[in-house]
Order: sequence, then structure tokens, then C-alpha cells
Amino acid sequence: MVGRMAPTPSAGLHIGNIFSCLIAWLAAKSAAGRIILRIEDVDRERCRQEHIDTILFDLERLGLVWDNEEILYQTSRTEAYDRACDALKGAGLLYPCFCSRADLHAASAPHRGERFVYAGTCRHVTGEERETLCRSRRFALRLEVPDENFIIQDAIQGSFTQNLAHECGDFIIRRSDGIYSYQLAVVVDDLAQGVTQVVRGVDLLECAPQQEYLRKLLDPTAKPLSYAHIPLLLDENGRRLAKRDRDIGVSGLLEHFGTVERLLGHLAHLTGLRSTAEPTTVQELLDGFSFEALQGKQSITWKMPGE
Ligand code: GLU
Repeated sequence: MVGRMAPTPSAGLHIGNIFSCLIAWLAAKSAAGRIILRIEDVDRERCRQEHIDTILFDLERLGLVWDNEEILYQTSRTEAYDRACDALKGAGLLYPCFCSRADLHAASAPHRGERFVYAGTCRHVTGEERETLCRSRRFALRLEVPDENFIIQDAIQGSFTQNLAHECGDFIIRRSDGIYSYQLAVVVDDLAQGVTQVVRGVDLLECAPQQEYLRKLLDPTAKPLSYAHIPLLLDENGRRLAKRDRDIGVSGLLEHFGTVERLLGHLAHLTGLRSTAEPTTVQELLDGFSFEALQGKQSITWKMPGE
């Protein structure tokens, strides 16, 4: 069992990311597996070294220590992404897409409600027209997807089915500015790092079918990943917690709670992992850990004690 913590350093960790990393860590460690850390900075313009520094510092002070000696940074992986892209191109599965703008955010993990289905416009641009456009325009590369249902068996959300052609459409592998997409980077890195279990927010559940499809294309011998998509922590208005909200960053939380143990106790109680908010450590939370408390939940309201 190899799990991963895969934060994007476009900001520091907030309580939602802490919860993801905590569950990923507990799931791997409670199964006597390894947990690896990967910094998902593929979209380098959105990422900052100062955020990487605080993420590493915060994970360590929470006790979420990783097992890989060398942290994998996606910005150092361009050659591996090039190779994967060439393999897909060689198999005739990619085509240039000249549609503007829509692809610009494709290197970020899309969040729920942001998905749109690509109509396949540029799939039908062929022959001379394609060549002429390629010479004169910048283009993204899209992967042709089949009209097929993909079923994900999720340890928390149950069975999730998506028809790639109808519910997703041909998706971006490389953006027109040359940056590889989140989907490609994640799949290549999960394969390279021998990841077997993915634990992350339920907003990324709809990416799992695309990622499984891509995974099989890049390595037909790879076993499907096991997935656990955890509920999102929302504010009392049902909105996602925003990274810019300082109160839910690690430093702000520790100012409030005083100790890591008190913060973890509150989080464990609020999310149903523990029946009381007694201060605790990640090591103690390993005892009797299972996904059961999270079963079927899409969201949990984040509240500070006494709220
Ligand atoms: N880097 C993504 C995030 O921070 C997680 C991607 C993943 O787990 O596949 O939201």
C-alpha cells in the first residue's frame, strides 16, 4: 500500500487540505503502508516557494511525516511528462486543439461545478487545415476519449460511473502554453511513485474515471488505484473554505487551539473519527482508524469549538 499527500502550493494548507492529508496519512499508515509527499506545482505560475516552505513545515508539525526521502516536485518532471505525451501521440490518441482560453486552467485540479464537456470541435479539424493552423497558431493537445462508461469503486462514496465521451469529453493533456495538465501530471506521477491508494476531496471524484483511462493507456499492466474521496469541509453557508481565509490556515488555527493535539482532537471529533474532542496525535488516531465514519458523506460543516 502506497498512499500520497499531494498539495498544490498555490497557498498554504488550510483545514480542508489538513483533513485530506490526515486521512491519506492514516489510511496508508494504518494498513502498514508508505505515505509519500508530492508537491503539485505543475502550474508553476500559480505556485510559490514560500507556500512550499510552509506546507512542509506545517505537515511536520502536525506529525504528518512522509516516507520518501526525496520529495517529488512536478516542476522537475517535464521529461517524464514529455515521454508520456509522446507515447500518447505515437498511439494516435492526441490531436491539436485551437480553441482558445477554455484550456487555460486545465493544469489545475478542477473543482466541482467547474466541469464542462468539450464538444470535440477540433477533433474534426483534419488534414491540410490542421497543418496550416498548427503552423500559425499555438495549440493545446487533447486526448480522444471513448464512448464508454468507467466505474470507480470508491471506499467512501461507493460506486461512481462516468461516460467519458458524454460527461467529460476529450480532455487536455498539454495546454497551449506548453504546461502539462493536472490529469497527465497526476497519472504519470502516481505510476512513477508506485502509488496504490488515492485519498482526496470528493470534488476530485469526477476526475478519477479520466485518470483511470489515462493510467491504462500509459501502463496497460497497472492495476486500478484504490480510491477514497473524502467529504469536503464547508463553512456554515455551505461554501468551500477559501485558502485566503487566514483563520483556517495552520498558524491561525494553532493560535486559536494552542497545541497541535487540541486541533487534531477537535478535527477528529467534528469529522466523526472520534466520539470526543479530547486532544490527540496522529499516532493515536491510527488506533482503530477506518473510513467508516466518513461513509457516503459529501461534506462536513467546519466549526470552531463553541460555534
Ligand atoms: N493537488 C491537488 C490539490 O491540492 C490534489 C490532486 C490529487 O489528489 O489528485 O487539490
